[in-house]
Amino acid sequence: MKTTIRTTVICIFSLFFIQTIFAQSKKFKADNVYYSRTDTKVLNLSNEVWKKILSKELYQVAREAATERAFTGSLYQNDIRGTYYCAVCGNGLFLSTAKFESACGWPSFYEPLRTKSVLYKKDSSHNMVRTEVLCGRCGSHLGHIFDDGPKPTGKRYCMNSISLDFEPLVAARKIGSF
Ligand code: FE
Repeated sequence: MKTTIRTTVICIFSLFFIQTIFAQSKKFKADNVYYSRTDTKVLNLSNEVWKKILSKELYQVAREAATERAFTGSLYQNDIRGTYYCAVCGNGLFLSTAKFESACGWPSFYEPLRTKSVLYKKDSSHNMVRTEVLCGRCGSHLGHIFDDGPKPTGKRYCMNSISLDFEPLVAARKIGSF
């Protein structure tokens, strides 16, 4: 009996927690007039504009190329089927089928959703030469790409969780997106 009560309480708290996260995400999207999952028009907005819209944490990663701490991102171990969108503008970036388990500590994919989903830029910061990956629509920083990924591409798109907005396939089906 005690176990049943405990399980019920845990379920109620979990549902409340998930609902709160979705509500926050929904509010952000409603406040962000540039967020769209269908509009592919390139956005050339200044950081002054984005600063008024994005949370401090997202702004630092997306617009100032900060990196979230390894193994701390909410999507690092996410293995649910679905689509990953740009958290800043809603541009489709990756499918869960291209996500693979990586020991690097960040969500990793072997290919983008479409060729134009992302852009690439040489990054010589921190005494390293790397290739930065940017959102193809809004130009926000997503992470970096490396040549040690699995087949078929051999690439590892090493992304910051906070830069990604994940939509589970089940939820998408409910609203008729699939
Ligand atoms: Fe974007």
